[in-house]
Amino acid sequence: MKYLSILVLLFSISCTGTQRAAISPPEVGLSNTKRLQQTVNSLPVNKTPKHRLKVVSREVSGNELKSTLVKMDKQFDEFYRCFNIKDKGNLARNFSHYLVDTVFKCPDHNGTCAGYIKRKEKILIISMDVFAKESPMPLLKHEWAHAYRIYPTSHIVPDKKKRGKIKKCIKYM
Ligand SMILES: [Zn+2]
Repeated sequence: MKYLSILVLLFSISCTGTQRAAISPPEVGLSNTKRLQQTVNSLPVNKTPKHRLKVVSREVSGNELKSTLVKMDKQFDEFYRCFNIKDKGNLARNFSHYLVDTVFKCPDHNGTCAGYIKRKEKILIISMDVFAKESPMPLLKHEWAHAYRIYPTSHIVPDKKKRGKIKKCIKYM
């Protein structure tokens, strides 16, 4: 979950490939939870090779998906090492990671998100290509931090030290 203002700022400093995202973000089903669940359940489940994280996507497939799964494992390695998480990925394995092409419409945060957690439904929606020159899925660690309740979905962390630690581990707050 990212604020539009932050996205706009980032878009303005890295502009390639972001035009399609700027004006009318696509709907991924956040306005209709049942439909979102149906979509996620209708897609074939892929698993990352190391951590066996569940990944579904309509837009990412073939070799791109294959290399994305490897990158997700790498990001998860970095994530759990940074926060010293001991569950070996058990919690993350409960979630379906729904990969979408770009930013999408969401009910809050001014209507545009690059990542979103539906905790009850155990779905993480992740944009692939957001900040053109960055690694893919820039909001993945951010959403995992929500999933692990390390980072509140309110994005409010009054403790400066804690905030600094979270930022170090997830990069985009
Ligand atoms: Zn968030």
